[in-house]
Amino acid sequence: MMKCPVCHHTSYTRTSRYLSAQTKEVYYQCQNMSCSTTFKTIESVDKIISEPLLKKQTRILETSQ
Ligand SMILES: [Zn+2]
Repeated sequence: MMKCPVCHHTSYTRTSRYLSAQTKEVYYQCQNMSCSTTFKTIESVDKIISEPLLKKQTRILETSQ
């Protein structure tokens, strides 16, 4: 969820699509009836905080070769 950039009211997702495995384009519409601004955002993975141990070990093996 992203607040409306015009009136800072709650907005809801109209539609979204993945641009890549870690990046998503999202279209929002403001829920404030007197505003109704539509806008889009680009959301992406900034950092993986934790991941399954097996996946992490695989990644370490891949990078050490
Ligand atoms: Zn608004």
